[in-house]
Amino acid sequence: MSRPFDTLSRPLDTLSRPTDTLSHPFDMLSRPTDTLCRLSDTLSKHSDTLSHAFDTLSHASDTLSQSFPKLNLTIPPSPCLLPQTPANSMSQAHAYAAQSPTTDLAPWTLERRPVGPHDVQIDIHYCGVCHSDLHQIRNEWFPGIFPMVPGHEIVGRITQVGDHVRNFKVGELAGVGCLVDSCQECANCEADLEQYCLDGNTQTYNNLDRQGRPTYGGYSTSIVVREEFVLHVSDKLNLAAVAPLLCAGITTYSPLRHWNIGPGHKVAVVGLGGLGHMAVKFAVAFGAEVTVLSTSPSKEADAKALGAHHFVATSDKDQTKAVRGSFDFILDTVSAEHDMNMYLSLLKTDGSLVLVGVPTEPLKVQPFSIIGGRKTLAGSSIGGIKETQEMLDFCAEHNITSDIELIDIKDVTAAYERMVKGDVRYRFVIDIATLK
Ligand SMILES: [Zn+2]
Ligand SMILES: [Zn+2]
Repeated sequence: MSRPFDTLSRPLDTLSRPTDTLSHPFDMLSRPTDTLCRLSDTLSKHSDTLSHAFDTLSHASDTLSQSFPKLNLTIPPSPCLLPQTPANSMSQAHAYAAQSPTTDLAPWTLERRPVGPHDVQIDIHYCGVCHSDLHQIRNEWFPGIFPMVPGHEIVGRITQVGDHVRNFKVGELAGVGCLVDSCQECANCEADLEQYCLDGNTQTYNNLDRQGRPTYGGYSTSIVVREEFVLHVSDKLNLAAVAPLLCAGITTYSPLRHWNIGPGHKVAVVGLGGLGHMAVKFAVAFGAEVTVLSTSPSKEADAKALGAHHFVATSDKDQTKAVRGSFDFILDTVSAEHDMNMYLSLLKTDGSLVLVGVPTEPLKVQPFSIIGGRKTLAGSSIGGIKETQEMLDFCAEHNITSDIELIDIKDVTAAYERMVKGDVRYRFVIDIATLK
């Protein structure tokens, strides 16, 4: 958002230079009048530049006001700044798109950009269905870019690589998660935390790329991504069941790693959906003692089958009271409204509760819930590319995948309805062969 102001400050700086020159009156007196004329021309040119800057600022302001009060704004650059690519070097992809926030997903055709020297083109085989796909096509988080092709749990096979690509070869399996670009030079990008890029990362869909073009996700037959954001995928695992690792997997793996969860830790996972079931698998694999906290007592058998050591039905007050003050770490995957103070009361002194679900309403947290016991309430978002690769390698080594239901793309709207009701074990994955 600082960009328009930077643009404005440049012409202002330039304007101050001729003014400095004018501030030497004795010099000026000794020069012929044509110097003054030249200065006048220069000022006039800078005035044009200034006027252009104001236009840019006004355009940005329009964009801001349309999107207010939502987050993650990207101000599109002027169309004249976009690089022109020859039409014949683009490729077409079949896709499912929402044309507006009130229409269901339906067949659509989109253009993928030409494969640049650092790009990898992937023929998509499977794409996971994330709850955020539905939130975004319905404009539930912020105004979206339509037509919108969701999908950020992408796996497939590489069909083309650019001349400068060194780490990927045609024919290899590959994955793409929630990010397709970032500035690559800020402190967070330098620290392999591209998800927290200070210049704003580029999301796989419902975003503008760094040249101002809309990004389209994995409910499509192919995608072109710069190689730094492409992941290696093992051929040892069921490829369809790998897809959800790219979002649900890394979203739970990253905080468990960041808080160094391992043997001796008592971990609770709140919610047993797409994220929760992966959290259980990872926490168990890291050696922690794992409890699933769920409002539905019927999920106990599922929790145990996934490897959880204990189950607490939070609808039962006695069961909840029995685990008060007992957890070192709680991973909260719930995106509906829930009683944060109750969950915080289950932490030990110095325990941490980390949010990865995104309820649409603000949380109601009583300060005493964290002051008493020096507790931490924190959040975490997906993971950087290096950590995502580490997670995929860990899964290949430990034979971890997501539990999925494979669907035909024409059934995606029905799948959304079931997902909203929590009626999926545990992630829908679209067989992209049904789109070809
Ligand atoms: Zn997701
Ligand atoms: Zn960055």
